Amino acid sequence: MKVIPLAEYSSFLLFLPLLLCCVMMMLMQSRGAAQRGPQITDVWFTPYTLQEAYDAIVKKTREWEIQGAQPSTRSFFLGGKASPKFEVLESIPPRLYKVRVGGQGEATFELTEVKGGGASVKTTYSSGVAALMRNFKANFPIQVPAVGKPCSSCGKPIMTDYQLCPYCGKSQTEACG
Ligand SMILES: [Zn+2]
Repeated sequence: MKVIPLAEYSSFLLFLPLLLCCVMMMLMQSRGAAQRGPQITDVWFTPYTLQEAYDAIVKKTREWEIQGAQPSTRSFFLGGKASPKFEVLESIPPRLYKVRVGGQGEATFELTEVKGGGASVKTTYSSGVAALMRNFKANFPIQVPAVGKPCSSCGKPIMTDYQLCPYCGKSQTEACG
């Protein structure tokens, strides 16, 4: 008589770990998706020198580290094995700087010296850090070079001595023949 409820109870116990596994996987998947997201590419020209621009990027992203220094509830559910809130993934001064803002995404800064002064900063970032990047750009000295010619592929104005279009990556050397 009481066999049926018992069997139900034990099957529930069997399913419980499975259920927990599913919940964990869903949590991890949503976290991964937030970090990947669609990639955004933006190129800034600045009157800063290569080194000045690099230093400004390091300084600004350090502010993100301070802002993001709060414990996350999600990391608690994942057994405390959370990725750090802020992490420098790659740094090749003064040309490359890549950071991860925990749970929000990654941002890569590629710096190129512009002949005649200044530098170009190519930023590639996931949509999760778009708000941070927008704020950064608004506070960064931006200067669009006055001299330019249209890219042979995408038509955007680029510096005459550029060998690669910073927007679409198309080689510009063929035109010089
Ligand atoms: Zn182009």
